[in-house]
Order: sequence, then structure tokens, then C-alpha cells
Amino acid sequence: MAKIRTISGTIDSQDVGWTLSHEHLVSGMGGMDRIGLYNEEEALRRCDDALNVAHKAQIQTIIDCTPVDLGRQVSAFKKLSSSSPINIVAATGLYRWVPLSYYSWDPDTVAQFFQREIEDGIEGTNIHAGIIKIAWDIEYSSTVGGANSLQSQLEKCARGAARASKRSGVPITCHTRAVDRVGIRLLDIFEEEEIDLAAVTIGHTNDSTEIDYVLELARRGANVGLDRFTKNMNEEELIRRSEIALALIEAGYAEQTSLGHDSAAYSVNRGPASGGPRIEDADCWLPVPGFEIPWLLSKGVGQDSIDAMMVKSIQRTFESAQAMKS
Ligand SMILES: [Zn+2]
Repeated sequence: MAKIRTISGTIDSQDVGWTLSHEHLVSGMGGMDRIGLYNEEEALRRCDDALNVAHKAQIQTIIDCTPVDLGRQVSAFKKLSSSSPINIVAATGLYRWVPLSYYSWDPDTVAQFFQREIEDGIEGTNIHAGIIKIAWDIEYSSTVGGANSLQSQLEKCARGAARASKRSGVPITCHTRAVDRVGIRLLDIFEEEEIDLAAVTIGHTNDSTEIDYVLELARRGANVGLDRFTKNMNEEELIRRSEIALALIEAGYAEQTSLGHDSAAYSVNRGPASGGPRIEDADCWLPVPGFEIPWLLSKGVGQDSIDAMMVKSIQRTFESAQAMKS
């Protein structure tokens, strides 16, 4: 058993219930609330709607993978902390573009900065981050600039995340560009930093079409995040992604597989051309409980395997992380 920090306080890992491993309540950019890009009243209404819809579909916990530079709003967390029917785990860490402020820091300074939000709270509140998020996308392939290239900065911040994980006892979740197979390099770095790969989720892995890559991540002991599964995908694509979950279950890795959507209740990223937030979508966290799980059951997957993915895999990441600290 491990303690998990949520925006409403600490819960035991045995109480997480069905968990979506990678979602966003509110997303956008850091500072968006100060420049007229963010409407909190509307954001809270949309979060309430989406949380209630997900709760009716048996979801009990959501991991919000939104660090500050992706528009995390701690004031929204404060308000949702008493009204949400679902446990919400908040993230520290970094999104894709390493801010220049971090460029001269060493990995330990990066770690200390992440640890503050875990151990002291976020922005002076008593809301503590419960997970560390990092993001390796197309920027990771940028090697221009030598020691200051985005690639080397992202690698340094991954080392910082590993050290913060070990010191604070919280897991790491990674946004990855799966088609570039960057999860392998991430696991190499985490191994060099001597952390337990069971505390690491390599996310967005169902963007990959290469099952050997997906299975390799699991074989090395990591948690595999199949956490891109959205309403705007056609049925053929949803089935293709569900087949990856099936392959992991059949290979014996259900307890190392987590499901999610990477969907936001309120986001100003990729909104309409005329500006403002994305279109309303209170069902954004339904495709996993509403499509993928029924599809897997229809293929003969047992309820125990579903619970392994929805509950045990999440418990494993938090419990493995906490064990590193103690
Ligand atoms: Zn995301």
C-alpha cells in the first residue's frame, strides 16, 4: 500500500478504484489566466460535467498530467477539491519545451524544483502534486546546439524527474512520441539513475503501430500507458488501439498496462480558429469505459484483467515509487 496525494488530500493506493492514467482538467499555457485566455467559471462548469459523466461510468480516480507550463490552474483544483466525485491527482514536472530558466540548472536543481510542489504544495496552497510529468515529443529529435540542444535539456530534466521520484516517492508519467520509440531511451536514462522502472509510465504508447516496441517497454518492467483514445477517432482506429491492450493482456502484462484518453474537460489548445476553448465535450472521458472495456470483454478478456489495467497497474506505479523512498 502507498499514500497517494490527491487535490483533496491523501488516499491509500488500495482505494484508487478504476483510474484513468492520463487526462487534463484544464490545459493551455502557463499564465493563460492572466492574459484573458482562460475563463474559470466556464472551465469549472465543464470539469464538473465531465467528472460527473466519468463517475457514472465507474471512474474513481483521474491523473491530471498538466504541469504549470501546460496551463495548470491551482485555483480550479482548490474549487474542485470539495466538489469532485472523483479523486484527482495533480502533476508537477514539465511539458514539451524546456523553459530557458531551466537551461543552466543541473539535474538536482530540477529535482528540487519538482520536489517543492510534491512536498510543500503547489503555489502556496496545501494541494500537493502526486506525480511527475515529463514530455518527449518532436523536440527530442532536435540536436542543434550541442549541450544546449532541446534533446540534451530534455534528457537532463528526465534525470531530474528520476531523482525527484526517488526522493519524494512519487511515480513519473511520460508523454512520449511513440512513433519515434523514445520510451526506450527514457528507460535507459531512468536505469542509469537507478530508479525502479515499475514507477514509470511510458504514455501515449498506443500511438505506436509497432507491437514489438510496446512489448519491449513492458518486458523491461515499465508501465505502458495506452492513454490516447479519443472520441474523434473513427471506430477502426479505436479498435486498432484496443487490440494493443489485448496484445498486452495476452502477453501477461495487464498489471503493467494503464488506460486513458489524454482528453481535457477545458482546453484552449487546438481550439477553434476564431479563438477560445475547444468545443464542449462532457463525454471526453467515456471512450475507455464506454468502448474499449466493452470491446475487450467481448473478446473474452476477464474482469480480472480489466481491473488489473484500471486499478492494479496504477497501484503498482505508486507503490513502487513509494518503496524507493522508504
Ligand atoms: Zn496529455
